[in-house]
Amino acid sequence: MKILYVHGFNGSPEGHSYSLLKKHLPEGCGLIGMNYNQNDCDVALKQIQETIQKESIDLVIGCSLGGFLTLLAEGVERFVVNPCYLPSIELPKLKTQNGLPAASTEMVDTYEPFEYKWRYLPQSDKERIHCFIGNADELFGEKYYYDIQDDLGRPPRMLYSGHHLSESAAETLCCLIAQKEIDRSPNHKASNKMTEAILRDAHKYSCNHEEFINRSEYCGCFSCCRVFPSYEIKNYIKDMGGKTALCPYCDTDALLPQSGPYELSEVLLRKMNKRWF
Ligand SMILES: [Zn+2]
Repeated sequence: MKILYVHGFNGSPEGHSYSLLKKHLPEGCGLIGMNYNQNDCDVALKQIQETIQKESIDLVIGCSLGGFLTLLAEGVERFVVNPCYLPSIELPKLKTQNGLPAASTEMVDTYEPFEYKWRYLPQSDKERIHCFIGNADELFGEKYYYDIQDDLGRPPRMLYSGHHLSESAAETLCCLIAQKEIDRSPNHKASNKMTEAILRDAHKYSCNHEEFINRSEYCGCFSCCRVFPSYEIKNYIKDMGGKTALCPYCDTDALLPQSGPYELSEVLLRKMNKRWF
């Protein structure tokens, strides 16, 4: 699978997030960090489309301002992390940093006509957008959660991350890519290794997840393999990094929240059950 990474405002094509993704990328996948003209939205979108065509890209990953551009990169599968939902509101707030300039009025003006455009993309294309929000995004918080949900027709999924991609979030995105690789070729030579990585990664959403649970309509337990509404949860235990919910049916700390990045399928719960119990 060929993947294109689109960085955020004043980021660099092969910066920190790129390196984290590269580190956890499954075998057989390639990652390209692209340079684009961030000062002109129209030009940037054309550059992204050209790169997608030229490099036969299968998946685009965009963060922050790169996430906004990625939302609009119609026609390809995309992972969008902490998207800058309204550049005309958010960009002017960013100050000069590390000697890099703040966003100019001219630059911001090029983005405004593209805002809200992706909500009118055909539903078949929206299916190809996978939107993720960091649980500790210090820049946007969860401000745009419901706007994204309305535009996309389903809620964004949550990751353990600040605004800048954390290593945990990069690892999760790479495990979701690994799952796509396995789905594409079930006899992939690294499928056992990839499955183990996916199960281990999914497991981390079973602890310190109170805010994930609060955002979930339902949860799945990989101890008793039940799926049930989150309001049935009554008990939590305190962990080092926060609170962990207990299953109301089997009293085990083995709950996966629906708001997390993994689809709560019976197959996943059964596999996790086999791996840990
Ligand atoms: Zn249970």
